[in-house]
Amino acid sequence: MLKRQKILIVDDTIANIQILGETLGAEYEVLIATNGNDALDLAQEQLPDIILLDIMMPGMDGYTVCRKLKSDPQTRSIPVIFITAMNEEKNEEKGLDIGAIDYIIKPFSPPIVKARVRNHLELKKYRDHLEQISMMDGLTGISNRRRFDEYLEQEWRRGSRSCNQISLVLMDIDLFKSFNDNYGHIEGDRCLKMVATALSESLQRPADIVARYGGEEFVAVLPDTDSEGALLITKRFMESVRNLGIKHEYSSVAEYVTISCGVVTVIPCKGQTKDAHIKMADELLYEAKQAGRNQIKWIDAI
Ligand code: GH3
Ligand code: MG
Ligand code: MG
Repeated sequence: MLKRQKILIVDDTIANIQILGETLGAEYEVLIATNGNDALDLAQEQLPDIILLDIMMPGMDGYTVCRKLKSDPQTRSIPVIFITAMNEEKNEEKGLDIGAIDYIIKPFSPPIVKARVRNHLELKKYRDHLEQISMMDGLTGISNRRRFDEYLEQEWRRGSRSCNQISLVLMDIDLFKSFNDNYGHIEGDRCLKMVATALSESLQRPADIVARYGGEEFVAVLPDTDSEGALLITKRFMESVRNLGIKHEYSSVAEYVTISCGVVTVIPCKGQTKDAHIKMADELLYEAKQAGRNQIKWIDAI
């Protein structure tokens, strides 16, 4: 069954929460906050699909909550609907200006709230789907280059603050041109899909990702991972590809499809750059090819 979409209701008046909860609870998972701070915490933790937000609340008002939500990349895309007794045009204009998607004036009609919420949630579902597709490689279904670029950027920023290590593994299928030339492109594509699946199934931590970097090249980002850990995972990558047992009679390296790997571990806060990180991995991958393929070259560039 499809997962129910999540609604966060933020209001300091319990009676309002009750009515909204009754209106929406049957169709959606409902979360509740009675003040701005709890709302922000819940929004970050639970990433609701929509937020119904009161404006007048003791402490932090709804406008401030909305501004904070819109300035945080994690919560920015969650649609916010103000539900408020503030019925002047300038209030509504302000609400929409700071990024709310809709503005409903109290006392509200439950069926109309329900209909508007349903419409906004439909759009949200569609947007989420498009975003997901835009991050995915069309052939293999794993993350694409764009997702990799974004993720590495994000993890580098995090690593610069925490001073934790981050490892990058660049991988390339050995002698894949002759695989394609001899078995044909359809078999080539099938091989790429199987390799992509094997690589992504080799990962165990939620923070690790593997992406298609280009043609027959793949890349893994391993946050908070030292060179020892990265080598262990890279060996697992090689083994999982080897264990697919995809026959490659035209390879000079092995009877089966193999990969070569370049692995670089850095501490982002120590003056390296992200681009240098990728370049080092690329150079090591090249060295692995030169040294005979089907092997790992690595460096601890701390
Ligand atoms: P090396 O061991 O040095 O990496 O040799 P190689 O033959 O793998 O490297 P090269 O870069 O010469 O060839 C890569 C080949 O990958 C070229 C192309 O036929 C194939 N390829 C790239 N993208 C795709 C794809 O999407 N589908 C298929 N079927 N083949 C692809
Ligand atoms: Mg290759
Ligand atoms: Mg290549």
